[in-house]
Amino acid sequence: MAEMNTVILSDSARGLRAAAGLLRAGQLVAFPTETVYGLGANARDDRAVARIFTAKGRPVFNPLIVHVPDAAMALELAEFSPAAEALARRFWPGPLTLVLTRRPETGLSGLATAGLDTVALRVPAHPLAHRLLEEFGGPLAAPSANPSGGVSPTTRAHVLDGLDGAIAAVLDGGACPVGLESTIVGFDRDTAVLLRPGGLPVEEIAALLGRPVDTLTTRHVTAPGQLQSHYAPRATLRLDAAGAASDEIWLG
Ligand code: AMP
Ligand code: MG
Repeated sequence: MAEMNTVILSDSARGLRAAAGLLRAGQLVAFPTETVYGLGANARDDRAVARIFTAKGRPVFNPLIVHVPDAAMALELAEFSPAAEALARRFWPGPLTLVLTRRPETGLSGLATAGLDTVALRVPAHPLAHRLLEEFGGPLAAPSANPSGGVSPTTRAHVLDGLDGAIAAVLDGGACPVGLESTIVGFDRDTAVLLRPGGLPVEEIAALLGRPVDTLTTRHVTAPGQLQSHYAPRATLRLDAAGAASDEIWLG
């Protein structure tokens, strides 16, 4: 990928408009959340989401967390069981990601969900993340803004250490307050299952639900995607391609 000039945007109205404009144009913009800096792309744009995997060197079978401005948009994208709804009401916005059954016809890129029929959703609490999502007006796929396998960045400087020249912009919001990834919870029917510990203590989740939260070990689930369905990509992969045809996505 050709090197680009990574722009630093301030947390002003102008900076936010520029960030949203770049996202609408299919570019990548890193932005602060209360956990770590996320690497955002329009979650409904296959090419934009593909850029995340290229910039990070992330395996395409690893699904992304889709960030939304509020629970109302989350409800449009996924089905909420009663337990999921209770968790969303109590802990959103905040460092909690819920893996839920995706609704049909959401327009979400299949790359963002790695071909699964579930989607990982979060409403971040960071004011700048929230303003960006509002300004953009749609869901943003956003893993941590670092090369795959590296340490998650909590400052603009960390983001640039790993991704300078590989992404369009960084929205500068100073240091992230939590510094830990979000806690990820999936569901087996209406039973909550901890998929990844993180910034929201699992004890708080158990206290709200009034029962212990299962872990992957106790349920013998070993990989994402085994909870509500199996990994089932429907796309055909063409290797050694020189470019993408009109109905293909270029992962080069
Ligand atoms: P991150 O790398 O912080 O963006 O977190 C992404 C992680 O969320 C993935 O590596 C999975 O562990 C989990 N995840 C995302 N989407 C799903 C999904 N549909 N099913 C199960 N786990 C998911
Ligand atoms: Mg990460």
